[in-house]
Amino acid sequence: MKYHTYDAVVVGAGGAGLRAAIELTDVASVAVVTKLYPTRSHTGAAQGGVCAALGNTEEDHWEWHMFDTVKGGDYLVDQDAAEVMCREAIDEIYELEHMGLPFNRTPEGLIDQRRFGGHTRNFGEGPVRRACYAADRTGHMILQTMYQQSVKHDVHFYNEFHVFDLILSEDGRAAGVVAYELATGEIHIFHAKAVLFATGGFGRAFRVTSNAQTLTGDGMAVVYRRGIPLEDMEFYQFHPTGMYKMGILLSEAARGEGAILRNGLGERFMERYAPTLLDLAPRDMVTRAIYQEIREGRGAEGKDYVYLDLRHLGKQVIDEKLPDITDFVRTYFHIDPAKDLVPIQPTAHYAMGGIPTDIDGRVVTDEKNTPLPGLYAAGETACVSVHGANRLGTNSLLDILVFGRRAGAHMAKFVKENDLPPLPKDAGERVQQMLDGLLKANGHESVAKIRTDLQRDMMDLAGVYRTAEGLTKMQGILGELRERYQHIGLQDRGSLFNAELVDAVELGFLLDCSEALVSSALAREESRGGHYREDFPKRDDQRFLSHTLAYKRDNGQIELRYKPVVITRFQPKERKY
Ligand SMILES: Cc1cc2nc3c(=O)[nH]c(=O)nc-3n(C[C@H](O)[C@H](O)[C@H](O)COP(=O)(O)OP(=O)(O)OC[C@H]3O[C@@H](n4cnc5c(N)ncnc54)[C@H](O)[C@@H]3O)c2cc1C
Repeated sequence: MKYHTYDAVVVGAGGAGLRAAIELTDVASVAVVTKLYPTRSHTGAAQGGVCAALGNTEEDHWEWHMFDTVKGGDYLVDQDAAEVMCREAIDEIYELEHMGLPFNRTPEGLIDQRRFGGHTRNFGEGPVRRACYAADRTGHMILQTMYQQSVKHDVHFYNEFHVFDLILSEDGRAAGVVAYELATGEIHIFHAKAVLFATGGFGRAFRVTSNAQTLTGDGMAVVYRRGIPLEDMEFYQFHPTGMYKMGILLSEAARGEGAILRNGLGERFMERYAPTLLDLAPRDMVTRAIYQEIREGRGAEGKDYVYLDLRHLGKQVIDEKLPDITDFVRTYFHIDPAKDLVPIQPTAHYAMGGIPTDIDGRVVTDEKNTPLPGLYAAGETACVSVHGANRLGTNSLLDILVFGRRAGAHMAKFVKENDLPPLPKDAGERVQQMLDGLLKANGHESVAKIRTDLQRDMMDLAGVYRTAEGLTKMQGILGELRERYQHIGLQDRGSLFNAELVDAVELGFLLDCSEALVSSALAREESRGGHYREDFPKRDDQRFLSHTLAYKRDNGQIELRYKPVVITRFQPKERKY
C-alpha cells in the first residue's frame, strides 16, 4: 500500500469537485482523486445551460428563481438552501465569466439567456429567460474552465484512481479515503483532515439513461456502507427527451428555443397537461404526460415513443444554438432535425437524492442534522436539498458551482482549525479483502448479466410509474441479484488496468443505491415530483412532507427515518403550470 498525506482530499473531478478544489488550493494542500481523467467527467456532457436571475434579456429576480425551484421540487426543497443557491447564482456566473467561460452573448455583449422548463417570471406567470449558456455545450465549457483554473492553481491530481472506501478515525472524524490505482492495481491510502465526495450520480441503475457508463453511485455507496444515511433516494428524475431506445439526451434547451412535443396524431399534447408553460413544464410532468399519451394509444406509430419537433426553428437556430444535439440526431438516427420529427422517450437522468449535507457541504448523519466532522459532499452525489422531489433544468450546474464553492470554503476553514486525525491501523483492510475476494472469484455468474437484469427491472418496476406490488417485487429481485453477485466469476486476475474488477465493484455500488431507492420509494405512500405511485396518486403533506433517510445497518437491513423539510418563504400549494 502507498500512503499520501494532504490537508484535504476531493474525490471527483467534475464541476463540483473542481470548484471545491479551486477554493481550497491557495490555503491548503489538496489532492483530487478521480476515476476519470478530469475533463472526461460527466459535467462535460451537460448541454443546455446554467441558470441565474441576471435579468439580461428580460426582468428577473432571484426570489422568482427561488420560488420556481421550490415549486418545481414539489415543496420538498429545503428553502434555506434554495435561497442560498438562487441568491449566490448571480455572483457565481460572473465569476465563471471572469474565469474565461465563453458564454453566448446578446447583441449588446451581455451573457445571453434562454428559457428552460419550470423557470418563470413573477411567481409563475409565464416562462422567463434565465439559463445562461454556451450553445448546447455549457457543461463542457464549465468543465474546461474549471480544469484550466485547477491547473493554474496547481491542484494535485490522481487520475484513474478509484475510491472504494472512506476512512473514519476512532473518534468519528473523516480521516481520508482508500483508492485503487487502475494502472497498477495498487492500493493508496489518502490520509487527510477533510474529505469531499463529488462523485456524481447513478443513472446506470436504469436501462435507458442519459448517464455515462461511469455513473454508478460510488460516493453514495461508499458512505452508505459506513453507516451514513442516503437522503431522498426515491426521487429519481426521468428527463422527457432522450433519443428513442438510446437514452442519449436531447437537451431541454431545444424546447427552450421553441421546439415542441407531438404525439402520434401530430397533436401538441402538452396543451392538455400544462396550459401555461406547455412544453416547458417541469420534467416530472412532461415525462408523465408522454407516458400517458403512449398508454392511451397516441404514441408515434402506436409504439412507446413520441416526437420532438424542431422543424420550425430554422437552420440558423439549429446550427448556432443547438449544434451538438442536432448532430447526435443526424449521426444516430440518420435524419435531419430541420426537416424530420425526432423520436424521443424519457430517459433516466438525475438523482435528486444522495448524501445529506447542510448549506456548507458538511455531511449530516441524522434528522437533527448532526455533522460528521471533516466529511463533505457536493454536486449530484449530495442532497442539500435544493431539488426536492424534482430538479429544474439548469439548476444542477448551478448547484455544483455554488455548493462546490461553499464546501471548498468551509473545508479551507476546517483544515486550518483542526489537526490530522489518527489513521486507523487497518485503514486499507476492507478494500484489500474485497479486492482479494473478487480476484479469486470463479463463480458462474457474469457481472454484465447481473447489471443488465438490474437495469431492466429497475426501469420497469422502480422507474416513472411505481406501485407497492412492483416495488416489493423489485426488493425481492434485488435480494436475488445480491445472491448472484456472491457467485460472480472474473476472467482477469491481473493487476494492470483491470477494468473487469472495477466493473464488479461498481455493480456492487449500483446494487446499494438501487436498494436504498426501492426501500425509500416503497415506504413513501404518496406521489410527489419524480416519485409517482399509481396506488397513491396524490401528494400527502400530512404524512410525507419530510425527507427520507435510508441507513444500511450491519445486518444488511435498511432502516428508514425522516427529517423535516425547511420551509421559510413559500408554503406548500398544489402545483399547477
Ligand atoms: C447529458 C446530460 C446533460 C445535462 N445537462 C445539464 C444542463 O444543461 N444543465 C444542468 O444544470 N444540468 C445538466 N445535467 C446534469 C449535470 O450535468 C450533472 O448533474 C452535474 O454535471 C454533475 O456534476 P458533478 O460534479 O456532481 O459530477 P460529475 O461531473 O459526474 O463528476 C463525477 C466525478 O467523480 C469521479 N468519480 C466517481 N466515482 C469515483 C470513485 N469511486 N473514485 C474516484 N472518482 C470518482 C469521476 O471521475 C468524476 O470526475 C446534465 C446531465 C446529463 C447526463
